[in-house]
Amino acid sequence: MQKTYFLLLVLLSLLSPAVMAQSYDIVIKDGHVIDPKNDIDAVMDIAIINNKIALISKNIDAKQAADVIEAKGMYVVPGLIDIHTHNFGGTQPDHQYENGNLGLAPDGFTFRNGVTTVVDAGSSGWRTFSTFKTQTIDNSRTRVLAFLNIVGEGMRGDYEQDLNDMDPRMTALVARRYKDIIVGIKLAHYEGHDWTPTDRAVEAGTAAKGIPVMIDFGGSTPPLPIEELFLKHLRPGDIFTHCFGQFNDREPIVDLATKKVKPFVYEARKRGIAFDVGYGNISFAYSQALPAAKEGFFPSSISTDLHVGSMNDAMKDMLTCMTKFLAMGMPLHDVIQACTSNPAKEIKHEELGNLSVGSGADVAILSVVDGKFGLFDYTGYKVEASKKFVCELTIRAGKIVYDLNGIASPIYQPKINTKNPQTVLITENH
Ligand SMILES: [Zn+2]
Repeated sequence: MQKTYFLLLVLLSLLSPAVMAQSYDIVIKDGHVIDPKNDIDAVMDIAIINNKIALISKNIDAKQAADVIEAKGMYVVPGLIDIHTHNFGGTQPDHQYENGNLGLAPDGFTFRNGVTTVVDAGSSGWRTFSTFKTQTIDNSRTRVLAFLNIVGEGMRGDYEQDLNDMDPRMTALVARRYKDIIVGIKLAHYEGHDWTPTDRAVEAGTAAKGIPVMIDFGGSTPPLPIEELFLKHLRPGDIFTHCFGQFNDREPIVDLATKKVKPFVYEARKRGIAFDVGYGNISFAYSQALPAAKEGFFPSSISTDLHVGSMNDAMKDMLTCMTKFLAMGMPLHDVIQACTSNPAKEIKHEELGNLSVGSGADVAILSVVDGKFGLFDYTGYKVEASKKFVCELTIRAGKIVYDLNGIASPIYQPKINTKNPQTVLITENH
C-alpha cells in the first residue's frame, strides 16, 4: 500500500504543472542566434538549465522557464572572449600593469560589453602569477585566463628589458602547474635588435606542452623583419597581437608604399599564425586596418588590450572595437566569430565561445542600433558609422549578470527565506 502511494506521488510529481514550470532556469525567446562554431545563424530560442545550454530550438515553451528573456530583434551570441586585457591591478608604485595602477579588475567592464572570458596578456610572470591569481582570478565572476609573461616579474615597466629574468624553464614550470588557467606565454615591449626574448618565449611555450605564444613585437632600430618572425621563429598557432599597429621601430603588415598586405602575411596566416587586434592606446591605426580591410584581410581575433589608458582613449571597449570592424566592412557573422570561436581556438579552449548543448551557459545578447557614430583612432583619423553594437544582456555560467533595459522577466529573482518560505527576504540580482 505504502509503495503504491509512493509511486503515485512520483507519478503525480512528474505530471505536475508546477514541476513542468521549473523545467528551465532561463529561456531566451525569439533572438537571432549567431553561433559560428555550430553554423547557426537563424532566429531560435535557447533554454538554460543548471548553468548549461540545455536546448536550442525553434519554439521552446516560455511557460517552462523561471526566467524569460525577450530577445526579438537582437543577436544572441556566445559570451564574448577578449584575449588581450590587463587585469593585474594593484597598489605597487611604478609597477604599471603588474600589480600597479594601470590594470583593472575585470567585472567592472566585461559584463556590460557581453564579455564573459578575458585572457590577461602577460601582466604577470612566473614570480608574480600566484599574487595575480589570489588577488584577481579567484575573486572575479568573469572567467579570467592568462598568458604568462616570459619576464619573471611580468609587465613592470623598464624591468621588461632584462634578459636575465626571462627564464623559459621556470615560466614553463608555472604554466604547467596552472594549466587550467595559463593558456599561453606572452612577450611584450622588448626593445632591442635581438631574437633572444622571442625564442625564449617560444621555448617556454613548447616546454609547457605546446601552448601558444602571444607576441607584442616591441621595437628595435632597425626593425626586426616580421617575415622572419612569422615564418622562422613562431610556430603554427602562435599569435601576433597589435596586428594593425604602425610604428617607426616595428615593421607593419601593410606595405606603406603600396598600401597592400605584404604577401608573406598571407603565407603566415596559411601557416597558422593568428592575427589579433590588441587595440590598446596606440596599437591600432586606420592607416593599417583600412587598406587591409579593403582587400578582405580581417583579424583572426578582435581584442581590446584594455587598461586604464586605452579605455578612456580611442579604444574604449570591446563593443567599440567590434563596431569599428563592422564599419570597415567585416561581415557581422565574422565579427562575432572573431570574438567567440576564433579566440577560443587560439587559446586551445574550444569548449568556450560556442552555444553547443551541454556547454557552459555564457551568453551575450547584443543589439545593432542605428545612429551617427564617430569612430576615431589615436592619430585623429575618423570613420563615420551608422551602426553600433550595444550589449543588452549578459549571462555568465547560467546567471544573468547584466541587463541594460530589463528584458528579463522577472528582472530580479526573489530570494526566498528558507526558514519561513512565506516571506521574501530580499530581491537579489540574478
Ligand atoms: Zn597589452
